[in-house]
Amino acid sequence: MVVFKFRASMPIFVARQWVRHRTASINEVSARYTELPGNLFEIKDPRQKHRYNKQGSDAVEDPSSDQRDILKRINDTTVEMYNLYQEALDLDIAPEQARMGLPLNIYTEMIWKMDLHNLFHFLKLRLDEHAQLEIRQMAQMILDIITPLAPISVQAWKDYVLNAVTFSSLELDALRKGEPLQSTSQSELEEFRKKIKIPLTSRSPEVNIER
Ligand SMILES: Cc1cc2nc3c(=O)[nH]c(=O)nc-3n(C[C@H](O)[C@H](O)[C@H](O)COP(=O)(O)OP(=O)(O)OC[C@H]3O[C@@H](n4cnc5c(N)ncnc54)[C@H](O)[C@@H]3O)c2cc1C
Repeated sequence: MVVFKFRASMPIFVARQWVRHRTASINEVSARYTELPGNLFEIKDPRQKHRYNKQGSDAVEDPSSDQRDILKRINDTTVEMYNLYQEALDLDIAPEQARMGLPLNIYTEMIWKMDLHNLFHFLKLRLDEHAQLEIRQMAQMILDIITPLAPISVQAWKDYVLNAVTFSSLELDALRKGEPLQSTSQSELEEFRKKIKIPLTSRSPEVNIER
């Protein structure tokens, strides 16, 4: 069995999503007895809620000064909270209490071990555009690391899993009949539109998803 072990450093808001993958073996640094270094994730470009994908976000094309300002205030407060943490440690407050005000964008670190089969599952979910940008970027780094180490498996996984498309029975019905997709859900229509943008073979039926 191929198993990978990483020393991964990530903001806590990414780690909370990361640790949901139960097939990993994890050993995370304990902030109860280790002082967390001041690695803070800085929020840069504002994103707005996505139109269809409830959990998603989109870049703001022309951010307002209020939008920029609020992100700056969040970044500044992060630094302030970290300084407070340091001050509390200096006053001999127990680390488990001193850390209580630390924000989600401070970095944590873990040793993360996973076999290739489950790693592919992780990557499929976390490279997906529904996943948050920051975890997607980390998943891409993991993929870049393992690609030269398991090139044939990675290529097969890309061909048959990552870049493969699954259709629901409603979507299949629409494709087979060449009729509009029978759905009133904007997000379902949008998902279908995206799927069939993938080049179809010359034998595929013409598809009309407009209602
Ligand atoms: C885009 C996105 C949005 C998400 N949004 C939310 C959210 O809003 N709220 C939230 O709470 N979570 C959310 N999650 C997390 C999600 O629900 C899963 O917990 C996470 O993706 C891990 O997936 P998994 O369980 O398939 O993976 P793993 O835990 O790595 O498990 C891999 C596979 O092993 C099998 N397996 C593992 N453990 C067991 C078990 N005990 N019993 C049976 N089978 C098992 C399953 O087949 C599973 O698919 C989100 C995930 C993604 C990718």
